Amino acid sequence: MLKQRTLKTLTRAVGVGLHSGQRVEITLRPAHPNTGIVFRRVDLPDPVEIPVSALAVTETRMASTISCGSAKVHTVEHLMSACAGLGIDNLYVDITAEEMPILDGSAASFVFLLQSAGIELQDAPRQFILLKQAVEVRQGKGVHEKWARLEPFHGYQLSFEIDFSHPAVDSTGQRLLFDISAGSFTKDIARARTFGFTKDVEMMRTNGLALGGGLDNAIVIDDYKVLNAGGLRYDDEFVKHKILDAMGDLYLVGKPLLAKYSAFRSGHALNNLLLRELLDHPEAWDLVTFADSQQAPAGYAQLARTW
Ligand SMILES: [Zn+2]
Repeated sequence: MLKQRTLKTLTRAVGVGLHSGQRVEITLRPAHPNTGIVFRRVDLPDPVEIPVSALAVTETRMASTISCGSAKVHTVEHLMSACAGLGIDNLYVDITAEEMPILDGSAASFVFLLQSAGIELQDAPRQFILLKQAVEVRQGKGVHEKWARLEPFHGYQLSFEIDFSHPAVDSTGQRLLFDISAGSFTKDIARARTFGFTKDVEMMRTNGLALGGGLDNAIVIDDYKVLNAGGLRYDDEFVKHKILDAMGDLYLVGKPLLAKYSAFRSGHALNNLLLRELLDHPEAWDLVTFADSQQAPAGYAQLARTW
């Protein structure tokens, strides 16, 4: 049986929120089978639990925010991406502020934390969302066109295209296909950092965004070039980060997908609309498990090791 996975033990990290600039502590804790991933605002007088779901996403400006009543957690997508990449089904995320720590701007620090805690197999079958029919969302026309699509596929493949006309981005690959059966999330995707343009930073800060952002947790680009002294971590780090974000945004549906995702200029908002479109079409998917793990696609049958 292909089993659900959680952590072996708890693990902690301290950092600042990318947008709020606020100090925040997180504690990642094991959870029972079928719990899913549940954020807990432990700083509130009565701690509030926010289980992840496509419908819990309430804001998508610059980051994905989940809410329960007035309790929120901003910028959940990089941890969610690490959980998708390592195949973590059940997890409590205790958090002491309204925004996740940005750490190094990628999913690598979360991968390190989760792997250091150890991953444990649980005695319950892992449930997948198996696409039976394509679903698609589209917005805008001409230069403003963007779209995202999920279609049937035995495995999990993501194909993303960005379209920045900027000298520092143009010179890199703007298109990428990542297949979890062929590539390694940890090596190929997890280290890609979030990025921002100096021309936008002033406007963002006026709007209370990017207050915790800087060269140690983002790729910063002026009108011509990347300003980080070390340059890029991958030649195509920008589109890789978009795939990292998409894996995190899509995992907010609460279960791993058996599907091919393709997207053109998508982002947090459109990724969430795609999940809502999927949930609105129950005929387009089934929930499946694998009694024989050898029947599961290679990328899911051979996830990050457990010990
Ligand atoms: Zn991101």
